[in-house]
Amino acid sequence: MTADHPPSPPERRAGEAMTPDEFRRWGHEAVEWVARYLEVVEDLPVLSTVEPGEVRAGLPPSPPRWPEPFGDILADLDTAILPGITHWQSPNFFGYFQANSSGPSVIGELVAAGLGTQGMLWSTSPAATELETLMCDWLVELLDLPERFLSTGPGGGVIQDGASGATLCALLAARERVRGREGLDRLVAYTSPEAHSSVLKGARVIGLRDEQLQLVATDARHALDPAALAEAVRADVAAGRRPFFVAATVGTTSSHAIDPVAAMAEVAREADAWIHVDGAHAGAAAVCSELRFVNDGLELVDSYAFDPHKWLFTNMECDVMFVADRAPLLAALSVSPEYLRNQASDSGAVIDYRDWHLPLGRRFRALKLWFVLRSYGAEGLAAAVRSHVAWAQALAGWVADDARFELAAPAPLNLVCFRHRGGDDVNRELLARVNGTGRAFLTHTVLDGRFTLRMSVGQTTTRRHHVEATWRLIAELAPR
Ligand code: PLP
Repeated sequence: MTADHPPSPPERRAGEAMTPDEFRRWGHEAVEWVARYLEVVEDLPVLSTVEPGEVRAGLPPSPPRWPEPFGDILADLDTAILPGITHWQSPNFFGYFQANSSGPSVIGELVAAGLGTQGMLWSTSPAATELETLMCDWLVELLDLPERFLSTGPGGGVIQDGASGATLCALLAARERVRGREGLDRLVAYTSPEAHSSVLKGARVIGLRDEQLQLVATDARHALDPAALAEAVRADVAAGRRPFFVAATVGTTSSHAIDPVAAMAEVAREADAWIHVDGAHAGAAAVCSELRFVNDGLELVDSYAFDPHKWLFTNMECDVMFVADRAPLLAALSVSPEYLRNQASDSGAVIDYRDWHLPLGRRFRALKLWFVLRSYGAEGLAAAVRSHVAWAQALAGWVADDARFELAAPAPLNLVCFRHRGGDDVNRELLARVNGTGRAFLTHTVLDGRFTLRMSVGQTTTRRHHVEATWRLIAELAPR
């Protein structure tokens, strides 16, 4: 694994770049390695079982002094890296929300890496910016989102690193809208206790104390109660505080609850507060016309984000964030030093995506999405998502039909939350036994104070028989 001697021909001399010919050879080998991996991933234990520190202990503690033969590096993937991989691309992966990949996406990543552009400004690679704008506009059409999110009006879309980053940017834009008129101390944001932890993290990042994020009561379906939101806003205004941000979730992480976006937007509008909708996972469902209830109320909101890197077959990191009015976001995030000035930016005729998020530099983010959207097509995406939902609904039926189990929450899409009636310890033990077989991987949450199993049916290569086999495994291992 180590090369402690100078390389001998035909390996590269120290400091020399890999030639295109060498790249061709090793690139082919690497693609072959990935293809073989994808052929066998289904049979690998889904959850890595290495002990903490084991992967590192299998690797040299220091970097190599001399260039190593490339074949050695690839060979070490099997021995040193694979044992420490949890196989998110296994069709038996049902944990968290999936982080989908797909062939077209991986190839798009490869090409983007090969081009190696840095698209901070339109002028630093016009295609990177213009394809991104087009992809965001395509998604407005594909998901039937409100036209106010199109780049041709005052709004527009941007690819963020994740839904967490999108929430932070929405908070920054909301903060910008009241800046100069309100001190940070008086600001109040609202969300539900079921919202993703990134809302609290974002609130902290912009400088709020935790108490400045109000957690509003939810109903029996774990969705935010808009009457409680209106009441909280009224009380805060009466106490001299300034409501400035409301975060709704479409498809909460724990249970896939869907907040009443339209009613929340109404409260936000009356309070002159920004409303952001986090549709991280569930938002992709709108590729299916019959599932467009996930878009309800979006025509009333300031910003919306969802992750193609969860359920739209596109590798991480790919979150698409839309704003109805880009001005506050740009006002919050545009800083223009002389060394970045250029004629195109000065003309105002182009988009510089560095102004839409925190980092300056950005790779060619839209390329893999372009590959995915073209390769699947609207019908292909809808068919895949529709199947996931159908199989999850079948699973919910099997759970309901087994007297030992109960559904822990409504399952509007592809996440099924359920528990054995035997109590928390039984469920904890059942989860450990199922995951311990290596034949499937599920995760858990706590709903209504009770330990709950979650099964998210959405991996790119999952088929109905994988869901059936996993349910059979759960049923077999569950106490009678
Ligand atoms: N929001 C919701 C509802 C989520 O479920 C998640 C992750 O599962 C996130 C936000 C965070 O997503 P990301 O990893 O893209 O930041």
